[in-house]
Amino acid sequence: MELKICHLYPDVLNLYGDRGNILCLRRRLEWRGLGFSLTELPLGGGDALGAFDLVFIGGGQDFEQTVLLEDLRRGRGADIRSAVEDGMPFLCVCGGYQLLGRSYRTADGQECPYIGALDLYTLGSEDRLIGNYVFQLEPEDGGSLVIGFENHGGRTYLGSGVRPLGRVRKGYGNNGEDGTEGARYKNVFGTYSHGPLLPKNPAFCDRLLACALERKYGRADLEPLEDAAEEAARAGMLARLGAD
Ligand code: GLN
Repeated sequence: MELKICHLYPDVLNLYGDRGNILCLRRRLEWRGLGFSLTELPLGGGDALGAFDLVFIGGGQDFEQTVLLEDLRRGRGADIRSAVEDGMPFLCVCGGYQLLGRSYRTADGQECPYIGALDLYTLGSEDRLIGNYVFQLEPEDGGSLVIGFENHGGRTYLGSGVRPLGRVRKGYGNNGEDGTEGARYKNVFGTYSHGPLLPKNPAFCDRLLACALERKYGRADLEPLEDAAEEAARAGMLARLGAD
């Protein structure tokens, strides 16, 4: 078994080491004797997403998010929408999460018409939501606590066509008001959590891998791994954040 992973827009959406998530996907496959390959698709990259088994999109600053618009219009937007509808697993972080929605109005009033693959929209604000945070995945995704780091001016509001990825225990999440964090639709996982999201949350990483393996092979035999170091780090961080 092998997963072909695509990193979309690594040239522009590349904040805070979001790329570490790909290393984590790789290691957790290889530790189980499963194969991995990575393709980076920058702006203007030709391949259609349908050739892959899982797509990762990281976060970016407002400027880069406007630079992308032309590429989305030239066809990548339609390609993402059709991959989403076809059940492709996506992990999308912050700016990458916002761009799957309908639109983003930046804090200085620029309108970014996005692709509407997910029923949500984002309004920017100068007042940023920053810090380590904790949210709980919904039961259908295993219900584990996810420890993340958020830094966004955008406030995201979910429409009726998507579910939240989780419920905020500590921190802000989508908008700091309604207690939701991220979005789930088909096999898309959108989140505000930057940086080493998956290394800090092995159960969430395995949930994503399972989605991709089940879609490709009809089953996902993920043997448990020895996660003692990860669990110790998580316990320390949950205690520090008062979310244990
Ligand atoms: N520029 C967007 C915002 O501030 C996304 C930021 C990010 O990806 N960290 O909301």
